[in-house]
Amino acid sequence: MLNQTEIRQYVAPPNQLHGRVIAITGAGDGIGRALALAAARQGAQLVLIGRTVRRLESIHAEIAALGSAGGQAPEATIAPLDLEKALAGDYDQLAAAVLQRYGRLDGLVHNAALLGTIAPIEHADMLNWCRVLHVNLTAALALTQVLLPSLRASEDASVIFTTSSVGRRGRANWGAYAVSKFAVEGLNQVLADELSGNSLVRVNAVNPGATRTRMRRQAFPGEDAALLPEPASILGPYLWLLGPASRGVTGQSLDCQAPRPSPPPAAPA
Ligand code: NDP
Repeated sequence: MLNQTEIRQYVAPPNQLHGRVIAITGAGDGIGRALALAAARQGAQLVLIGRTVRRLESIHAEIAALGSAGGQAPEATIAPLDLEKALAGDYDQLAAAVLQRYGRLDGLVHNAALLGTIAPIEHADMLNWCRVLHVNLTAALALTQVLLPSLRASEDASVIFTTSSVGRRGRANWGAYAVSKFAVEGLNQVLADELSGNSLVRVNAVNPGATRTRMRRQAFPGEDAALLPEPASILGPYLWLLGPASRGVTGQSLDCQAPRPSPPPAAPA
């Protein structure tokens, strides 16, 4: 296995994801969008899962345009799913569509998340707490469950959860978001352990680190975003985990960026 630095700096060989079917949640914006585009460039067929259809249509069009550069157009399908509101039937429908269209799933990236309200635990709003825990944790579990038959049908399936530094060491005011990411780390470890030895499905988590996106702006409105890396520049660990070079790696929690000094605490709402 590569060391942490090599994984962070990983540059995928051309076409390394050729023929792989990869589903990404929150594919319409931020890191999910950049990852969808990078994976399509490497030959993956994408299932673009997200809440805002116009954003999914935009990334779908951008992926389709890759083909006009002369190569074969990468294939992508849009799967609208609001992880806050989706019911069991919506998950089942998506899983059935994936199985029917592709017969398997080689990658599942749980990227979508809700920041929620930044506030001390003492003042935690219960509705916000439930929404954040549901989208960031429970929905990822529900989606994994229904897609497991497709993942098991792959010869090398890779599930990626998205964690955060506040999901490894608690920080004041990050409330439900931080707790949800701690739980995602736990889900990652438990599922990886359960699936190792009896399946070809590997399960890992990735912490993107401070990245120039809408969520980061929401958390740190006063920060100079120009100092942060763009989503497209932090994707090494995701692309390594989705490709054949990481076959057999499971139960890890990786970082996209070298550790930085802790930022100032987010302002309580
Ligand atoms: P963005 O806010 O840019 O993107 C989040 C994506 O999640 C959007 O596409 C959004 O959809 C989607 N989403 C939110 N709620 C739902 C929902 N209910 N149903 C379906 N999709 C939903 O965030 P980032 O790209 O920054 O974050 C990506 C991941 O990285 C998250 O898991 C985040 O916690 C993590 N992370 C980010 C860091 C950063 O500095 N950016 C640092 C550490 C971790 P829509 O377009 O509809 O809003």
